[in-house]
Amino acid sequence: MLTGSYDLSLVLISLCVAVLASYTALDLAGRIARASGWGALLWIGGGAVAMGIGVWSMHFIGMLAFSLPIPLGYDLALTLLSLALAVLSSGFALALVGQERLPAWQLGAGALVMGCGIAGMHYLGMYAMLMQPGIDYDPVLFGLSLVIAALASGAALWIAVRLRKRTPYVRLMRAGAALLMGLAIVGMHYTGMAAARFPLGSFCGAAPSGLDSHWLAILVILVTLAVLAIALLTSILDARMEERTAQLAKSLAQANLELTQLALHDTLTRLPNRLLLEDRIGQKIAKAQRDGGHFALMFLDLDGFKPVNDAFGHHVGDQLLRAVAQRLRDNMRTEDTLARIGGDEFVLLMKLRDPEDAASVASQQIALLAEPFHVKGEELRISGSIGIALYPGDGQNQQELLINADAAMYHAKGSGKNAYSFFEQSMNTNARNHLQMLQDLRSALERKEFLLHYQPKFAAHDGRLIGAEALLRWQHPQRGLVMPDEFIAIAERTGLIVPIGEWVLDEACRQMSLWYAQGHHDWRVAVNLSALQFCHAGLVDCVAATLARHGLPANCLTLEITETTAMRDADSSLAILGQLADMGVDLSIDDFGTGYSSLLYLKRLPANELKIDRGFVRDLEQDSDDAAIVSAIVALGQALDLRIVAEGVETPRQQDFLTRLGCDSLQGYLLGQPCPPEQILKAATEPV
Ligand code: C2E
Ligand code: CA
Ligand code: CA
Repeated sequence: MLTGSYDLSLVLISLCVAVLASYTALDLAGRIARASGWGALLWIGGGAVAMGIGVWSMHFIGMLAFSLPIPLGYDLALTLLSLALAVLSSGFALALVGQERLPAWQLGAGALVMGCGIAGMHYLGMYAMLMQPGIDYDPVLFGLSLVIAALASGAALWIAVRLRKRTPYVRLMRAGAALLMGLAIVGMHYTGMAAARFPLGSFCGAAPSGLDSHWLAILVILVTLAVLAIALLTSILDARMEERTAQLAKSLAQANLELTQLALHDTLTRLPNRLLLEDRIGQKIAKAQRDGGHFALMFLDLDGFKPVNDAFGHHVGDQLLRAVAQRLRDNMRTEDTLARIGGDEFVLLMKLRDPEDAASVASQQIALLAEPFHVKGEELRISGSIGIALYPGDGQNQQELLINADAAMYHAKGSGKNAYSFFEQSMNTNARNHLQMLQDLRSALERKEFLLHYQPKFAAHDGRLIGAEALLRWQHPQRGLVMPDEFIAIAERTGLIVPIGEWVLDEACRQMSLWYAQGHHDWRVAVNLSALQFCHAGLVDCVAATLARHGLPANCLTLEITETTAMRDADSSLAILGQLADMGVDLSIDDFGTGYSSLLYLKRLPANELKIDRGFVRDLEQDSDDAAIVSAIVALGQALDLRIVAEGVETPRQQDFLTRLGCDSLQGYLLGQPCPPEQILKAATEPV
């Protein structure tokens, strides 16, 4: 029997290689588990090569560490075949642990196949020495080496599956496991070697062609280390990249979340906005349809918010809104929704056990708001008006419920603020009409649906026609002729009155220039100006341009502004009226007696005419107070050197009375109804 000996340093190196190969394998197992598709295949392929070379070279270095008293060598083809076997079984193992799950039976079978692969590699490698006569194996040790191979493979697979997740100390645990696995692989190898007995007189058939084992060892070690290092490095770098990608994905998800938050919430109060509210209403409707039950939509509008905002500034206004939001939110259940859908408009969406509960909730909210707020050292008092729409009953969908709750809120405001109101069908028609009207009004100018009627004005003492007031009419395609009382307010609220007013001015001047051309040089056309037009910067220029366009003398135009408008912002009104008066335009204070004029101020106004409100004229015969007021106005006008006009003259007695009191001119249904311009000429030829 030939006795072999081992080169201890090579044995140690073989152990290191085994441990390193094991570590690489474990690391790659984690990689494969997280990759998918082609990526996973690539990792399995590359990993199989690296790990196969690692395992094989451990074995081969172990072989090189072994020496017999005879020269040894290795058959190249068989050695390469053993390498191939190592690579294949490594690939198999990696594919196995790359699976989502590894049931016990698969683990067992895998361990067996892998064990056979490693053992096959080992014994094929031994066979590559081509010993003559053949190696004699000790059956017990041989069997033991097989068992160790299978057990080591099983343990390796089990550990690899365990450690493929990225848990806290995974690298440390992998290192420990790699040490164990390396020991198991080395153990298998040296048990297999111990099983081999070389009869005396054996010789190595591969020796003659053999390479120098010393240089071969160095070469194998270097190549192996290089391959394993590359595999490990790639894996670590890729893991880094994956980590960074994961981080990026995380921050992207975070950004997305913030964006949705922004898109669905009001930035000032952080309450849900209209978009989110509509979504929640939709959900509540669906739930109520499925499970029954009721809910209420409460439209809450603050009373007195605007004055606070004007007086204390936006900053305080914003803080107040936040405080309101906070207080309302603190007093509701988490399952209910509070949204802010406009400046000082909030909507409360809440589930109800009983529809009647809505009333008590609404009065609670109103009481909450009535408590003073403390903002930036100021004590602020506001109140709220609430409109309630109930589901089912007050609307089929989000839009209808919101519109109806809004209509009910307007009703509450109309009936004295600081109150709530349940929706009723009649409010709906109003609200809908209102909305439709607004839409139609926007396009009315373009469609040329406006026209002017003219109401004649007469000199009181001789009944001579002295001009006419232009009164706006809207020829609506469905509603017919619409009177200004129905749409002027909407036009003012939306600002549409400015372009409409410019049209009125232009059309009235055009008409007047026609009359002027016909010889009516002493007539004046009167045009009503709304408060908004009066504040509009371009008014003076617009009037000048219009007069110029139609070649009309300025004193053929009277501009009527109401007393309230003229008094609102005294100084700027004075400036504008001054400019108009300088141009020579005639100015009339309309609806006089309904506002609060200061006598001093009235004296400074460059007006030419006072128009007594028709309210006083109407009650002239029954109410002695009104008679006193009218005679006072007339006296005042005469003192200030203003013409006095009475409007709304409906009876001969009124006409007589007003004339005797000293009014200069008269206007009213008795003397002439507003009519198309052609008919005015008839009034001129048939004096009253
Ligand atoms: P206003 O300036 O006081 O116009 C007089 C209104 O009294 C007119 O109503 C006229 O038809 C009505 N009226 C005339 N005589 C009598 C009478 O004997 N008895 C009664 N009960 N009423 C009489 P209308 O045309 O419906 O205009 C209503 C208001 O609409 C006007 O009141 C004016 O404030 C506004 N308005 C009319 N046209 C314009 C316009 O072009 N621009 C602006 N900004 N407002 C206009
Ligand atoms: Ca008027
Ligand atoms: Ca009037």
